Amino acid sequence: MTDSPAPATVTGPDEADWAAAEAAVRALAADARVLLVCHVNPDGDALGSMLGFGLGLRRLGVRHLQATFPGPPEVPDPFRWLPGLDLLVPSDEAYREPDLVVCFDAASESRLGELADRLGGPGRALVLDHHGSNTRFGDVQLVDPAAAATSVVAEELLARLDVPLDAEIAACLYVALTTDTGSFRFEATTPAVHRLAARLLATGIRPGDISRQVFDTRPFGAVRLFGEVLGRARLEPTAAAGHGLVWTYATQDDLARHDQRPYVLEALIDSVRCTAEADVACVLKQVGPTEWAVSMRSKGAVDVSRVAVALGGGGHRFAAGFTGAGDADAVVGRIRAQLDGALLPA
Ligand code: AMP
Ligand code: MN
Ligand code: MN
Repeated sequence: MTDSPAPATVTGPDEADWAAAEAAVRALAADARVLLVCHVNPDGDALGSMLGFGLGLRRLGVRHLQATFPGPPEVPDPFRWLPGLDLLVPSDEAYREPDLVVCFDAASESRLGELADRLGGPGRALVLDHHGSNTRFGDVQLVDPAAAATSVVAEELLARLDVPLDAEIAACLYVALTTDTGSFRFEATTPAVHRLAARLLATGIRPGDISRQVFDTRPFGAVRLFGEVLGRARLEPTAAAGHGLVWTYATQDDLARHDQRPYVLEALIDSVRCTAEADVACVLKQVGPTEWAVSMRSKGAVDVSRVAVALGGGGHRFAAGFTGAGDADAVVGRIRAQLDGALLPA
């Protein structure tokens, strides 16, 4: 399922949005059921903002509280130590008619898979996100395209709800912030981001330990798999009006031969996008016989979210993705064809 592209949102939530979100939480009855959902194949921001906010709701006294995401209920190894994992339930066990749904880091309902129907129930749906391509679903939207991570939005709402940061909440929000900013390297790393990081670190969390677990630990099989997949990368210097494209792909067979889980492929794009000769980097990850989850990154010449939206996905200007059908060459062909139309002004 794809969503029609929404007009790019330039402004974040206004006071009325914050007040509506705060009221939706404060109005919860003592026995209210709250369901937290994040996007399919959850990354650090999806899980971290959801679990950090969930722990905050627990501190507020919310007793009937579940967190979930679509697809197999499998948390990637780098996140298996996160506080609040006990909130997680498989999607088929999630409340059918929660009194409140809070949705994290999902740009569209399609990213919620089989859980999208939970937003149409009698309860209210609160959406916390930071994608410019957000389709504005749900009842109350806290969508800030200027925010470096959904956790930035989650932390502000927790502060408005008078939930103090503790080390458990902070660990979750810090994972979200570091994954989505590439460890404070990307453009969205504003002074406010560093001030948030300072507040989180002040709770006593250990950034070295967290980074090692999240970014710097993977099985040896994944190291060998990366070698193979990077070895077949292709450089197309003339693509994107001469700004260059570099791409590679990883098949389900690659994963099986090296006995690896799909999540290990999430880090691949970082090894590909460092290519000096290309502005745009793509990694195609096979998810079915002729289906690929595509990650795209740009260094500034191309708006890859435009490419992604045109091909049925979404994301941010310099980091976006979609699901593509066909063989790998055909999927890359469709990307290549979109690049010239997605050039940003120099
Ligand atoms: P990734 O390459 O998976 O790290 O994703 C980069 C960005 O693109 C993230 O902000 C994702 O939310 C977004 N994204 C990735 N895949 C899709 C998709 N199939 N549909 C919509 N957005 C996507
Ligand atoms: Mn995400
Ligand atoms: Mn995010």
